Amino acid sequence: MAEDCIFCKIVAGQLPADFVHRAGDIVAFRDIHPRAPVHVLVIPTEHIGSLTDLRAEHSDLAAKLLRTAAEIARELGVEGRGYRVTVNTGPESGSEVAHLHLHILGCRQMGAMG
Ligand code: 5GP
Ligand code: ZN
Repeated sequence: MAEDCIFCKIVAGQLPADFVHRAGDIVAFRDIHPRAPVHVLVIPTEHIGSLTDLRAEHSDLAAKLLRTAAEIARELGVEGRGYRVTVNTGPESGSEVAHLHLHILGCRQMGAMG
């Protein structure tokens, strides 16, 4: 657990969250400021700062994060209509929270990237 990391605090139960998935080393919860009717954050319980910090030993976990995102999209009913998975990394991405997370966005027509 990293000091002052809000997502580590959510994992530890020190901050509330609207969980949609909790299993082993991955949890997912609804974004507090949703940008789409479905806006879920999928995170490893381990503190990994960003994609930049992924190492070879995280390969299984990284694959599992993607598979879990697809599973949650199916469970939340957006698989058929389509959805977007985004990972912001570094200052110019606008990333706010330095704990690796996948955004699942769905239930609205997405605009162009960028
Ligand atoms: P980023 O901009 O780093 O890619 O995404 C961070 C996301 O975390 C933002 O969409 C923001 O709304 C969300 N967020 C920030 N603080 C909290 C919180 O305390 N709880 C939840 N559920 N989401 C949060
Ligand atoms: Zn963290």
